[in-house]
Amino acid sequence: MSECLFCKIAAGEIPAKVVFQDERVMAFEDINPQAPVHVIIIPRKHIPTVLDLTDADREIVGYMHTAAKQIATDKSLTENGFRLVINCGKSAGQEVFHLHIHMLSGRDFSWPPG
Ligand code: AMP
Repeated sequence: MSECLFCKIAAGEIPAKVVFQDERVMAFEDINPQAPVHVIIIPRKHIPTVLDLTDADREIVGYMHTAAKQIATDKSLTENGFRLVINCGKSAGQEVFHLHIHMLSGRDFSWPPG
């Protein structure tokens, strides 16, 4: 999708602080971090929201989570933990319509979320 911000980041057309990438996913630091660690994990494939997932996307959704595990290990987040968040749609606050996991760590988080 030529007009998608995260597709442009995945293509290297917009700069980002990349923390992990391979042929299927990319992870980069959030430009407006909500915690000391705030990483965005995306599939290279353009999928707007969770509601657009199909059976063909099962593997990539799982793979995004194993990428999160790898990033957690690389950043030494495994002992204190981290939060993974996917916003879907307006009420959840989704602003970028390219599927992404927020990976947040480095402070305590409350529950329920705001
Ligand atoms: P969401 O509200 O779930 O769609 O999250 C979108 C996230 O993308 C927000 O946390 C933004 O701060 C982040 N974001 C927007 N533009 C950029 C950018 N150019 N580089 C990194 N993160 C971005």
